[in-house]
Formats: sequence, structure tokens, C-alpha cells
Amino acid sequence: MAYRRTLKRGVGCTGIGLHTGRPVRLDLRPAPAEHGVRFRRTDVGVEIPAHIDHLGRLDHATTLSRDGVSIDTVEHLLSALYSLGVDDVLVEVDGPEIPVMDGSAAPFVILIHEAGLRPLKVSRRYLKVLRPVEVVRGGKWARLSPSDQFRVSYTIGFDHPLLRHQSASVRVSADTYAETIAPARTFGFLREVEMLRKAGLALGGSLENAIVVGETGVLNQKLRFEDEFVRHKILDAIGDLSLLGHPLVGHLEASKAGHALHAALARAVLDAPDAWALVTLPQLPVVTLPGAPAPAPLATQRG
Ligand SMILES: [Zn+2]
Repeated sequence: MAYRRTLKRGVGCTGIGLHTGRPVRLDLRPAPAEHGVRFRRTDVGVEIPAHIDHLGRLDHATTLSRDGVSIDTVEHLLSALYSLGVDDVLVEVDGPEIPVMDGSAAPFVILIHEAGLRPLKVSRRYLKVLRPVEVVRGGKWARLSPSDQFRVSYTIGFDHPLLRHQSASVRVSADTYAETIAPARTFGFLREVEMLRKAGLALGGSLENAIVVGETGVLNQKLRFEDEFVRHKILDAIGDLSLLGHPLVGHLEASKAGHALHAALARAVLDAPDAWALVTLPQLPVVTLPGAPAPAPLATQRG
């Protein structure tokens, strides 16, 4: 049986909030089984479960809110927690947004690795997709369909020579995620950044925490992957779909989607209880690392 997991020990970091441009302290703390992923604003003493029922604004990031208190830019941290298999954790933050770090989920993967994982004595329940659920808005769509594994396939297309078309498909495991998805940074267009600044947003945004796309190319020194843009959309989609509250067994496909459509899909899934079932799964097989000595048969141990 696959069991729920929490962190072995508490870990923390500080960073800059993308919108306020102010320093934020973030702490991840171990939690008991069935606690789920919960955020706590330590400056105002409000706790918000990471669940679609507490969804707030969805313009340039995913926001959770409750009782008039909100936490912005939760999706990259949620994406890392989900993909590394952290079911129960308390996320403490002393301001209105999660630090943007380098614009990717890689710093959160490092933080979770530093904390280590601890299995809990309660089996993990997966949300297994039984029939397709789809949301369509104009030329954009997102769909979840049955599959034996959690896979994400994504296509983006923008009216920009660099980003006319990119697509990628990945079977999400802790390893594939850490290596191929987590390092992909968020991106924005230069003219959009200027508009955000005028509106008093993205004050903490810089080439240190986002890829900025100008008229003719990328303003940053270089990309981490040739298709870093679509990889980041996969990262975002995983974080947003984690608001379902259960790990997924199904195939997520999306084209030209974004936070609003990811959230609409999560809502559509919860509103269609005949489209899925909660199931337990056998524990994943233990993999012997290359170079580890093979266990010797008992009969030959004494020569
Ligand atoms: Zn993002």
C-alpha cells in the first residue's frame, strides 16, 4: 500500500514576493496524517487549506483566500509538494505571497529534499479518472482522461515568433519532475511587465526570477531548456490541479490554457463525481541503485 507522507523535519527559506517586492519568510513544517497541505499566514493568524474551495484571484498567479485573507503565488510550491509526494504539511508564510525564488520550483525541490520525507500510517488515496472531463474556452482547452499513470501533455501557442508553438508530454514522477520540470522558470512579455509595473504589480520581478520575452528574443542570458516555456506551463498545471486535494491517476492534456482554465478543470472534475473514484494503490517497487551490492543468498554467506 502507498502511504501518506509528511516531512521529516521543518525547513525554511526567505525570498522576495513577486508582486510586493518585499522579503517573505517561508517555513515548511511536518503535519499529521489527513492534515493535507495547509497554508498559514503567521502575520495575521489565518489558515487556508490548499483546496479548490479556497481559490481566490487567478490573474497572473494562483491565489488562495479565506475570510478576506489571501496568499498569492502558491502554484510553484504546490507543484513541488505534489510531485515529490508530500501529502501532509503546514506551510507558514509571514506575508501575502509565497517567495518567487528564481521563478521555478527547483528551490522548493531542494528545500523538500533537505527536509526529507517520512511515511505516515495512513494509506494515500488517489483520484483515479474514470471518464474524460473537459473544459473549453474559445481556442483554449484542458482535459483529464483515464490513464494508468499521472501524465501531463501540454501545448502552448502565442502570437510571438519565439513562442508560436511548443508542446511536451511527461509522466510525472519525483525524479522526472525534479530534473525536467521543476527548473523551468515562469515567463512574461516585456510589454506586459511594463503594464503590470504601472498597475503596482510585479514590483519584485526581475531577470533573476522570470524569463522576459522582448520583441526579438529573450532578455535573459540563456534558457535552461529549449522548450522551457511549455515545461513551466506543465509545472503550473500540476500545482493548480493539486488543489483537487488528492494525487491524480489520469492524463492531463491542455492547449493554450492557464491558471483560470486549470482551476475550471479541477472544479469540473469535483462537480462530476461519476468521472472518478478514490482508490488506494500498491507501494511503488523499491529500486536498487546502480552500484549497490546485490544481497548475497544466506546459504553462501559463510563460504
Ligand atoms: Zn508559474
